[in-house]
Amino acid sequence: MNGNERQNKVLLIYTGGTIGMVQDADGSLQPFAMERIYDALPLLHRTNYQIDSCQLDRIIDSSNMTPEFWIDIADIIEREYAYYDGFVVLHGTDTMAYTASALSFMFKNLSKPIVLTGSQLPLGMLRSDGRENIICALEIASGQQVMIPEVTIFFESHLYRGNRSTKVSAENFDAFSSFNYPSLAKAGINITYKDHLFLPIPEGPLKVRKRFDRRIAVLKLFPGITPAVVQSIVRTPDLQGLIIETFGSGNAPTERWFIDSLQEALDRGIIVFNVTQCKAGAVKMRQYQASCDMDRIGVIGGHDITIEAAVTKLMYLLGVFPEQKEEVRQRLGKSLRGEISLEDTEDEI
Ligand code: ASP
Repeated sequence: MNGNERQNKVLLIYTGGTIGMVQDADGSLQPFAMERIYDALPLLHRTNYQIDSCQLDRIIDSSNMTPEFWIDIADIIEREYAYYDGFVVLHGTDTMAYTASALSFMFKNLSKPIVLTGSQLPLGMLRSDGRENIICALEIASGQQVMIPEVTIFFESHLYRGNRSTKVSAENFDAFSSFNYPSLAKAGINITYKDHLFLPIPEGPLKVRKRFDRRIAVLKLFPGITPAVVQSIVRTPDLQGLIIETFGSGNAPTERWFIDSLQEALDRGIIVFNVTQCKAGAVKMRQYQASCDMDRIGVIGGHDITIEAAVTKLMYLLGVFPEQKEEVRQRLGKSLRGEISLEDTEDEI
């Protein structure tokens, strides 16, 4: 590098999860001090980009993730946005897809990469998958080859759009999948980027919105579900949004009591969002008679959205538009950050 050339810079943000654990002398897993990242991965000295690191005030197993932590992560990235070319968030795998989805909605006009990664085995273990994941995530986030203007997840050689990703294995190293959108890059001998799949480079300035409304519920349907269970969820005090995880292409029981329960929710101003239990494919309201009544009463179809993106999108829109249900309803069925396969995108939020 000659003296005038600026080295790219990546900020590594540690939030917790298996990746950051090291095995103690007694064999128990302890969180690892991120300042020691170079001790754990001396190879990082050989990169031609600069890596700085920081961590959340509280390091967590990602099962404890909440919107407050999403906001903490977003605060760090927003504060440091001008100083870095990209960001890597080290995160537990369990709820990584939720955090990636939440961040994708919070950052409008993102023009730098935010890459989440983690591992199935702790970095301090001999067979850890964390090493590869972290090194590839850093390289991608450094933006030296291409700038991916998206929140993504890198895991076991694939880079996925964050809000399309789902954790699919508690055992395999390839723990994530993106069923309804192809991977954005593949790491082999080279990292091969599929630029045509990236979101477009935004034109406006970065805008970070940090409001979520947690007053939502997910009702997963199963054959034999009782009116008492459905009603207890619908009648949750102060509920603002309800996701029903339906069968196949968005189908649900056509029995009177079920439709009446949903009608009751809608009458109370609750937004009802129809998301399929299937991993691949989309909700198609009115394809079967089993979704016609829901369509007629005003349930919104979720297209091919993942449950992780649906939960965070609903919380986000309710947070951004408090007491403005019509605004939320209109945007739920549109693509905000490429989370659903629709041309009908929403640019304002
Ligand atoms: N329970 C851990 C977490 O999500 C699992 C992992 O990191 O893979 O924080």
